Amino acid sequence: MKSRKLLMIPGPIEFESEVMQCMAIPTPSHVSPDFIDCFANSLKLMKDVWQCPSGQPFIIAGTGTLAMDVAAANLIESGDKALVIATGYFGLRYAEILKRYGAQVDILEAEVGDIVPLELIEEQLKSKRYKLLTFTHVDTSTAVLNDAKRIGALGKKYNVLTILDGVCSVAGEEIKQEDWGIDVVLTASQKAIGVPPGLALLVASKNAMQVFDQRTSPVANYYGDWANWLPIMKAYENKQASYFGTPPVNLVIALEKSLQLILKEGLDHRFDRHKRAGKAMRAAIKALGLDLLSKNEHVSANTLSAPLYPSQIDTSAFLKSVNQEGVILAGGLLPQLKNNYFRIGHMGSVNKNDLLATVGAIESALMNNGYSHELGLGTTQILKHF
Ligand code: PMP
Repeated sequence: MKSRKLLMIPGPIEFESEVMQCMAIPTPSHVSPDFIDCFANSLKLMKDVWQCPSGQPFIIAGTGTLAMDVAAANLIESGDKALVIATGYFGLRYAEILKRYGAQVDILEAEVGDIVPLELIEEQLKSKRYKLLTFTHVDTSTAVLNDAKRIGALGKKYNVLTILDGVCSVAGEEIKQEDWGIDVVLTASQKAIGVPPGLALLVASKNAMQVFDQRTSPVANYYGDWANWLPIMKAYENKQASYFGTPPVNLVIALEKSLQLILKEGLDHRFDRHKRAGKAMRAAIKALGLDLLSKNEHVSANTLSAPLYPSQIDTSAFLKSVNQEGVILAGGLLPQLKNNYFRIGHMGSVNKNDLLATVGAIESALMNNGYSHELGLGTTQILKHF
């Protein structure tokens, strides 16, 4: 009998076997010709996946938080005004990061499970001259999806740099960075990009790079300073060896493979598949009589779902019980509601069978922990949507 459990948390996710094979090959030199080609190609493929042909991609060893830190460190100078649109835990984290670099930060915080209305964002942008605004495309703590296209357009209208935290969205939710006028789109490898944890990935617009060039003070973060990384990215793009910090070689090889698989599937197809998975999972959860933390379909992410526990259930035993059924899910992340909900990741390589197994495990665990319902109502929804 297979003992492997299905990992359905919102990152790390289940990775494609072709990607995992890249992690197992003997590590080549970071300046070997083959690896230089691989790095150059990964940078090029990032521009395709981000849909930002004139952008500057960066591949840096680190996590998603480092990608957030790097964008803030390079674009903020002490005293700059920044606006954070927070739809959960990671929005608030961005405010803390910006403050470290001396930004004067205002926060527009959404009600839990909702977005900040665009009219409110526009009012705020009218009332004060900001240098930069950040928003979380999908906040992994609430499963809320922001309208990136319209926030990007507001950034352009008010001449404010925009940073999209796409850690839980890039390669899962539709993003057209260049068309939508977003200045930085950042992510980490372990989510919909489909590579084990360890890569901080971002693409900066021409506009963002110009703002960086015009800085009058040094970047207050040595490791993250684009002045250190830009020559390295440029060298790899030009198929030349260069060194600032040793790249995580196998992860970059795995990244190239995963980006190739993403583009082979086709971006539109991939975004549609995620939409279908999100819709199916929300329908399954509702069919079981559970509510979701995200307020309505319009603001619900397609890369993860956040169901609320029914009141009858023994919440402490529930996730253990799902695990015994062979599926690993995540608990709540918002400190004030931690024990009121759980989270299901459905991004990257996720398929119909994964969704069926997950909903089946949830149905059994609900039943075993004091919540009676008719078995099969959730899985039927998955079948209906696929
Ligand atoms: N932003 C979002 C939206 C995230 O989901 C996460 C990770 N869950 C992060 C930032 C931080 O990424 P990391 O854990 O890789 O530092």
